[in-house]
Amino acid sequence: MINVRADEQELRILREEVAQITEKIIELLALRNERSRAIGQLKRRMNVALLDLNAEKDLRERIARVAQRHGLDPESTQRTLTFLFQESLRQQSSIEDREGPRITHMDIFRKAKQLESSGQKVIHLEVGEPDFGAPLEVHRTLSEAAISGYAKYGEAKGLPELRERIIEYLDERFGVRRSPQEVLVVPGGRFGVYAAAAALLSPGDEQLVIDPSWPLYKQAAQLLHARPIAIKTTLEDSWLPRVEDVENSLSSATRLLVLNSPNNPTGAVIDRRLMEEIVEVCRKRSIYVLSDEVYMDYCFTEHYSVLETGYEKSLMLMSFSKSWGMTGYRVGFLVGERAMIDRAASVQAMLMTCVPEFIQRAAFKALEDNETPKVYGRVMKERISEICKWLDSMPVSYMRPRGGMYVFPKIDVKGIDTAEIALKLLEKDRVAIAPGTAFGDYKDHLRISAGTSSEEIAEGLRRLKTYVDSYRRPPLGVKDF
Ligand code: PMP
Repeated sequence: MINVRADEQELRILREEVAQITEKIIELLALRNERSRAIGQLKRRMNVALLDLNAEKDLRERIARVAQRHGLDPESTQRTLTFLFQESLRQQSSIEDREGPRITHMDIFRKAKQLESSGQKVIHLEVGEPDFGAPLEVHRTLSEAAISGYAKYGEAKGLPELRERIIEYLDERFGVRRSPQEVLVVPGGRFGVYAAAAALLSPGDEQLVIDPSWPLYKQAAQLLHARPIAIKTTLEDSWLPRVEDVENSLSSATRLLVLNSPNNPTGAVIDRRLMEEIVEVCRKRSIYVLSDEVYMDYCFTEHYSVLETGYEKSLMLMSFSKSWGMTGYRVGFLVGERAMIDRAASVQAMLMTCVPEFIQRAAFKALEDNETPKVYGRVMKERISEICKWLDSMPVSYMRPRGGMYVFPKIDVKGIDTAEIALKLLEKDRVAIAPGTAFGDYKDHLRISAGTSSEEIAEGLRRLKTYVDSYRRPPLGVKDF
């Protein structure tokens, strides 16, 4: 009895001490925030960027030493630092900084849909969906499989025969031999990105993304309370990352690098050499690489897969949406190290059990068809050339895409805001185009999609040209890298 009371007393004392320490932490946080705001003001006065990865890196190293001295877990210390850095940045930012882009491509898409529902015809150059549709045999297989009752719960990783077929496909295509246990059939590339990120990222981890980028990569990291760090690429560098920029953006909290080749929105393609150099940097630091290769069949030069590097911490993502026009089927696959695929599979099992079997059977059928991806790739290349021809007569700079289904021109008219252009063009001329701000800090750029027919593309581009020409600036010509 006496002992119990002594323990209770001790617990009360300890709790009070913890409460006081917590109070101190919060008071220190308030002080830290105040200093961060002062730093923000100074940086604005000096006209320097708010995000300073070098300063963060120095502090990470310094704190790692303190953590070591006190026997703290190094990884959770680094993750805690990520939260502090994010809070610093939030404090440093002004309200305008925090608002982000005012108009995104989803706003344009929504507005276009509104116009259409009121009976207006809109030319869609903003969508990331090819207009091709799936091959007839694939449709047929899908219906027959559904009618035959292939519609039960299945293995999270996917049908064994489909995974076997995917293994053969990878072998034929890239000469790599993988095991079916290293394949996860996912409900589309989009879910594949999320499943991979969920398998890899813990709150406070950092994920590197090469900007301009498909918005989902950053959104998925944020959904998982991880921190996306953008490595900015430029038109002048042919939209390719410099290896030293990748190296410099790594921190002790970096867990994952996302690559996308052929790229949405720029059309850049990472060649063998660059891929190997980037992978080498990641290998040295044991960082995972997620390589989104969903546009591999819309590649107008050699496509080099991350799987060919042999790096064990690489994950490759592929989808049936682009190569076989199966966007609405929602099916793709993720390939990588068994332990990671197992983790991604358990995320999938929790959220959706498995990809419906009749869809997987349709995907199996698609893999028998080597011709359709080639035809679709050729059509995309022609449409991209068509878009480039139009752009050559406008005051824009751009890189001729090496792959993908988009062109990402910079409008060479001083002070022009492409989000404004996108909105005006939609309201006035009924053409929907994605503003560059949807893909990172690229407010002078537009993304033009080749997902629609050549006739629509020509008419959409004619209207864009009339709009841009109305600014009456001389053409600056094309930069072909
Ligand atoms: N990756 C990239 C780069 C994309 O642009 C898209 C589609 N816009 C996808 C993946 C995903 O496509 P899906 O989910 O249809 O497979």
